[in-house]
Amino acid sequence: MVTTTWRDEYQARVKAPCRADVPLAPLTTFRIGGAADLVVEPRSEADAVEAVAVAAELAVPVTLLGGGSNVLVADRGVRGIVLRLAGRLSQVLVTDDGRRVDVGAGAPFPRLTKVCMALGWERSDGWVGTPGTVGGALVMNAGSREGEIGEVVESVRLIVDGHATTFIRAQCGFEYRKSAFPRGALILSAVLRCDSADPARAAYVEERGHQALLRRKRSQPREHSAGSIFKNPPGGSAGKLIEETGLKGARQGGAVISPVHANFIVNTGGATAADVVALAELARTRVRERTSVELEWEVRRIGEFQ
Ligand SMILES: Cc1cc2nc3c(=O)[nH]c(=O)nc-3n(C[C@H](O)[C@H](O)[C@H](O)COP(=O)(O)OP(=O)(O)OC[C@H]3O[C@@H](n4cnc5c(N)ncnc54)[C@H](O)[C@@H]3O)c2cc1C
Repeated sequence: MVTTTWRDEYQARVKAPCRADVPLAPLTTFRIGGAADLVVEPRSEADAVEAVAVAAELAVPVTLLGGGSNVLVADRGVRGIVLRLAGRLSQVLVTDDGRRVDVGAGAPFPRLTKVCMALGWERSDGWVGTPGTVGGALVMNAGSREGEIGEVVESVRLIVDGHATTFIRAQCGFEYRKSAFPRGALILSAVLRCDSADPARAAYVEERGHQALLRRKRSQPREHSAGSIFKNPPGGSAGKLIEETGLKGARQGGAVISPVHANFIVNTGGATAADVVALAELARTRVRERTSVELEWEVRRIGEFQ
């Protein structure tokens, strides 16, 4: 007797390329985590709508993944579908004399950063050194004190409850490492605008970006990580608070609280997601006991955690 699984039925019904039992660790900057049941890569808006709709019909959970630079994937992996954008959804198009950029959510954020700096967009140098995709950057309102992507968003195209729709900037709710897109919404693309764009300022903006990159190289670890584990508390620094607990260099399995920057947990080889969670929670507990400050995770945990 031939049995049909949800994966067979799903793959038969969608146009987007699908791959089964895909190890996710190589798709993340942490290089940690188990496999996904099915990775699906839509290349157009229509394919993305179809991919989401068929998943809903089959009642299969969908997890969204960009460049995997702000996630910790569970050791047991992710059940259901992991959706990543590709093809036309990764394009960067400059129009309106360099004042407008139409960008697919699957485009690499460093590519967008380079384009915007070359157009002389002030404060795009604040994005320098942030890996990942534009989709992830929009969800996280990525950047730094010197500039966040949310500042230049005019509108965002996304799928909410199975329908493609457009949010204007006011609906996006950008705050520090935060946005207000509905839970599970798939971001497809965005229109970015900088009316003060000035090509004559490009060299200045690029030099600032270059300096920011040099500062990062001095102050951040080089091993595999997902960037800052915790958000900075209002008016404070998560790294400084963790450093004051004496936990710099603390190790759990292959995971270490970086001696270079205490708000980074690095994978020194063979670290598990459980190792990272144990270390991060130790840091959170020590900071709470010492200062009453409750650190909030910036890194998003995805998949089957206990
Ligand atoms: C070395 C290093 C340095 C970093 N420095 C910075 C920094 O300076 N500033 C900063 O802000 N961040 C920094 N980060 C964190 C990270 O790069 C950013 O948060 C980045 O914007 C995440 O993008 P991503 O595509 O990798 O998202 P992912 O990690 O893949 O996903 C992050 C979240 O977004 C969701 N998501 C991803 N794509 C979509 C989509 N298309 N639609 C809907 N939801 C989606 C995911 O489900 C997840 O919840 C750093 C990370 C590293 C490893």
